[in-house]
Amino acid sequence: MSIKTLTLMLLAAIFLISSTQPLMAAQGKDEKLFQEALNLYKTLQTNPTQITNYEIWDTIAQAFYSIYRTYPASPKAPTSLFISGKMYEEMGMRFNSRENLEKSIDLSRELINVFPNSNLADDAQIRIARIIEGWDKSQAYLEYEKVVKNYPTSDMVDAAKSKLNELASYKPAESQITESITEAKTKNNPDRLASINQIGHWSTDTYTRVVINVDRETPFEPHFLKAGMVEGAPPRLYVDIKGATVDRNLEMPPIQNGLLEDIRFARNTLDTVRVVLYIKSFSNYKVFSLHNPFRIVMDIYGSEKNNVASKPKGSEEDKTLAGLPKLDGKDISTLRGALGLKVRTVVIDPGHGGHDPGAIGPTGLKEKDVTLAIAKALKNKIEQVGGDFGISRVILTREDDRFIPLEERTGIAKREHADLFISIHCNAAKDSDAHGIETYILSFTNDPEALAVAARENVSTTKGISDLRDIIKKYLLNSKIDESKRLAAYVQTSVTTNLARKYQTAVDKGVKKAPFIVLIGADIPSILVETSFITNPREEEKLRDPKYINEIADGILRGVKSYSTEVETASVEK
Ligand SMILES: [Zn+2]
Repeated sequence: MSIKTLTLMLLAAIFLISSTQPLMAAQGKDEKLFQEALNLYKTLQTNPTQITNYEIWDTIAQAFYSIYRTYPASPKAPTSLFISGKMYEEMGMRFNSRENLEKSIDLSRELINVFPNSNLADDAQIRIARIIEGWDKSQAYLEYEKVVKNYPTSDMVDAAKSKLNELASYKPAESQITESITEAKTKNNPDRLASINQIGHWSTDTYTRVVINVDRETPFEPHFLKAGMVEGAPPRLYVDIKGATVDRNLEMPPIQNGLLEDIRFARNTLDTVRVVLYIKSFSNYKVFSLHNPFRIVMDIYGSEKNNVASKPKGSEEDKTLAGLPKLDGKDISTLRGALGLKVRTVVIDPGHGGHDPGAIGPTGLKEKDVTLAIAKALKNKIEQVGGDFGISRVILTREDDRFIPLEERTGIAKREHADLFISIHCNAAKDSDAHGIETYILSFTNDPEALAVAARENVSTTKGISDLRDIIKKYLLNSKIDESKRLAAYVQTSVTTNLARKYQTAVDKGVKKAPFIVLIGADIPSILVETSFITNPREEEKLRDPKYINEIADGILRGVKSYSTEVETASVEK
């Protein structure tokens, strides 16, 4: 079966699902869809070409999930959810993807929550324990314990008990001391210890990013504690920072609302600080470090379930599904686009600012000033005409000349529930002849030129760049690569054509990939535009000219328009 045929079958399946009133007249149709998905799954397992195709796996797993969501009362609902979770575990192993393993855990937890009496619940619990054992034996211990406690009659109990014996030394001990920020501040900081001097956080109802600044590089270890280990305790993510203490001048903005409830501190030994995040709900997390200055970034994703429950009936999401059957879906990527989000909110990120001027031109023009001018012009334009293609909000990560760390910029996009993220920059090169326009998406690359651009924008050493490989791997599956590529292609083409009509230097250097920190973790279509080379005397001169700025902004606007019109048409038009 070709991918196209498969896609059409799935579209047909989704058509059947979404055109039917859930729970009414459901008889037979859920069975039929389930059989169809099951046949696709079986074909996949026996077909050597398909079995290596990630997108086919993903689409079928989504189809199973969709059956459960559309027919929650169907006898096939628990099995559909179970198979979806099973498929993501298999994908995790096959494609070596932690992302998929985490998804499998989420789906297994959902099964346990929604169908606590299903005879698949204990199998789902065992699966959770088995997956987690691969990276956190202490947490795995707690998960195996649940099999024994919650499913005493399960045929899995013996297996779980023997695991508990095997993992006995990993049984977690609860730390008792947790302090508020005021109590944790250290009066006298011994010189040998690194100092935690700033903590930033950005939260929505389903996401939070916490960034801990430490004045020098220190080893750290993240851990996760599930809810209820102590009676009534919310889930906690904590990180032990070794050889560190809390600076007496530590700055931390007050925690308002969102997924994050509280940040507290604990000291287990004299030179280890434990920073504990209290979280409302939890589905998964990522922790990584960035350099210059050293900081530890913690991304936490809340449980989708809360999110879904809070959506009113007849919400935009439903309409998206209802609009689907009108599609003639060309390939999986289009199908994804159609299921994906429409563009409503755009976050524009003027690169650099404050003490970080970015690149500087031969006569002193600063990148930070150019990017802000372009961003403001672009914001104006989208505010004027964006309504015509569905965009109702435009937000700048900075409105004036101030410094904003790279990871905070993505945090702003998340906080604002942005649908698109556009970071604006000027290119730089040792060769003063270098000129033209490039648009980047997040990925790893071996292209030395692209790596040099990323290193400069990340204000990081090459070592930093190679560390990023692992971080980016974690994020790549979720980072909307296909959509980002399409957006990048539209913007690149329209900026270049727009400028080339009037300026000879406007050469199309194409869409490229590189590991940009500012694009990490924004799970929406995200691009970084290198609008021109500020180090080229001719381009620097143009970048001083408001007309040229205006043409760049106009080009980006056209690209955004093409992209959002496409998504809009795909998702709502009849
Ligand atoms: Zn830049």
